[in-house]
Amino acid sequence: MQQPFRPKDPLREGSQFVKGVGPSRQKLLSRLGIETVEDLVSHFPRAYYDRSNLLPIGDIGPGADATFLATTLAVSLRTARRGQSILTVAVGDETGIVHLTFFNQPYLEKQFKQGTRIIATGRMRYYKGQKQIVAPDYELLSGELDESLIHTGRIVPVYPLTAGISQRMMRRIIKSALEKTMESIAENLPARVLASKDFPSRGRAFVEIHYPESWESLKRAVRRFKFEEVFFLHLLIKDRRIRVLGGRPRPDLSGPHPLLERFLESLPFELTAAQERVLGEIRSDVGRENGLGRLVQGDVGSGKTVIGVAAMMMAIGKGFQAAMMVPTEILAQQHFEKISRYLEGLSVSVELLIGSMSGREKGRVHEALREGSVDLVIGTHALIQEGIAFHQLGLAVIDEQHRFGVRQRAKLGDSGLLPHFIVMTATPIPRSLAQTVYGDLDLSIIDELPFGRRNVRTEIVEAEERDRVYAEVRDILHAGRQAFFLYPLIEESEKSDLLAATEAFERFQADEFGRFPIGLLHGRMSFEEKSKVVQMFRNGEIGVLVTTTVIEVGVDIPNASVLVVNNPERFGLAQLHQLRGRVGRRGSGGVCYLILGESSHHVASARLRLFAETDDGFRLAEEDLRLRGPGEIWGFRQSGMPAFRLINPVSDSDIVQQSWRETDRLLKTDPGLNYSENKVVSDYFRMYYKPRMAVADIG
Ligand code: ADP
Ligand code: MG
Repeated sequence: MQQPFRPKDPLREGSQFVKGVGPSRQKLLSRLGIETVEDLVSHFPRAYYDRSNLLPIGDIGPGADATFLATTLAVSLRTARRGQSILTVAVGDETGIVHLTFFNQPYLEKQFKQGTRIIATGRMRYYKGQKQIVAPDYELLSGELDESLIHTGRIVPVYPLTAGISQRMMRRIIKSALEKTMESIAENLPARVLASKDFPSRGRAFVEIHYPESWESLKRAVRRFKFEEVFFLHLLIKDRRIRVLGGRPRPDLSGPHPLLERFLESLPFELTAAQERVLGEIRSDVGRENGLGRLVQGDVGSGKTVIGVAAMMMAIGKGFQAAMMVPTEILAQQHFEKISRYLEGLSVSVELLIGSMSGREKGRVHEALREGSVDLVIGTHALIQEGIAFHQLGLAVIDEQHRFGVRQRAKLGDSGLLPHFIVMTATPIPRSLAQTVYGDLDLSIIDELPFGRRNVRTEIVEAEERDRVYAEVRDILHAGRQAFFLYPLIEESEKSDLLAATEAFERFQADEFGRFPIGLLHGRMSFEEKSKVVQMFRNGEIGVLVTTTVIEVGVDIPNASVLVVNNPERFGLAQLHQLRGRVGRRGSGGVCYLILGESSHHVASARLRLFAETDDGFRLAEEDLRLRGPGEIWGFRQSGMPAFRLINPVSDSDIVQQSWRETDRLLKTDPGLNYSENKVVSDYFRMYYKPRMAVADIG
């Protein structure tokens, strides 16, 4: 078939062909991920200087950056000690004179002819009684002050750079890229949205974000790009949802739930008020046409898993199957044991399904799932592997995995009915981010711990105080409690000065903890080895467990009361909080030592201090988000999704909400994006955004 004719798109040309680039600079640009003209114009500034305010030289004081317009009066080039060259350019206006000094750039001399007009920005100081600026940013003026200014005399962009590319070079290159493409940057938002939100056109926005006319116009351009980032993401999520999940009926789980009641009665404890509330929310959802799709958040130990199991009783009681999926085999095993115990006497059949089971075992479980003789299955990703079929899955509970997209969801039940769905996480996801990632999942929060606040003291310790900590840990061990020692994961490729967990394990055995039984747990061990170690630790046969982050999620060791984290600066706060949740469960109190790395002993950063002071997981997660961005925390980067570049779904939640509403409205009136006024949207979405996002695991 003949391809429809499309004019050549200048944005997709190689950046190498932009004026001022060429093959060797292109190599440097590649390091910044810049390959095309579009990448260049999308290389947004990281900051701006306000150099729009021109001062008379006489008014310039020392200390702060100042921008001024002047005429070249005299130029001198001399060689100082050790062959260093010093170029001094005296420039002045009616109010005074300032000397501009450049070291080791003798070739600049010929630019500065007497009478040349210059606009410059720099920090003035007094040198031998005269005003001097070393290495100012400057621009020579051929004619009037005008639009062509790029380094000074205006609001000036400051770019992320790489070695070999200077700020001035980058400004010039991006300016030429903009000049080349400005006219051909197509709009991609509906005219109605532009008008109602007072956004500049896309082409204009690109110019403004690099070379703003004013702070006000910069703000409008930035808002437009932020909006764009979520707008197309939302379209994608909704598009996938319609295609993958659309129109499939949900199992009917409404009505009385006798099995659930019996389960609740059999529990050795009463639900907390927060658990009651969330379970109530879940019960009322299952009668809705859209079914149950809920994100349950709650701190470590708040009793989420119990609620997940309770919800599964609704499905099983109605003759459906239920599945719980967890991120690691250790956790699957632990849940399997615990849930089997909860369910004793309720005649519910429970199975485990994990990758490391023998082929025969797995085959048996597959078969049982297919024919419906299993009511409840607990497993890892093995649950959504090719070839798994359920007889009639009614509810899927995803525990401690906040990235679980529509496509995985679809795999969980491809037999007509679309299962109800709960995601449970101890990593608090602020509402606006949840909406971005999950779209229409409802939120529930278990904001109460069964035994009240954990009583865990957190102490930040310098590396030199290690021995004191070890002595304290020995005391605690003597009292019959247990301890975790946690080490950051070490990439094999990475030459690191950190103590590996294995090294510590060997040293502890020979030395500091020689009198206690010690275990080692890390990611490269087989499942059998790991599960044996966890078992021994739980039984108290191991007193000290040296581990990497494999212990992170959900592992429950009630008797552990010390956590020693090595190089805590290597961990995210939410992650540390999860880990801290491993000790002092059952309200018994505990202590968490953060032993700073050798090289970082003076930086008990604000982050870690906040961590030591607060036990509020939500606060910590928000702080993490603010500092590290959602890309790091929710693994968007690994998921193939370009991280949000400008928008921060937490602080820009208003934009997220607006985009959600606009995309709803758009798809409601024109689901296929066929109307002519929506053509700009569908062109960009279909030809450009969607193909690029094809691999992203999101929504
Ligand atoms: P989470 O999944 O939120 O970390 P779990 O569901 O694993 O929490 O519960 C942590 C521990 O507290 C488990 O041992 C569980 O049996 C217990 N538990 C849960 N809810 C309650 C409650 N309401 N009262 C007492 N203990 C509870
Ligand atoms: Mg749990």
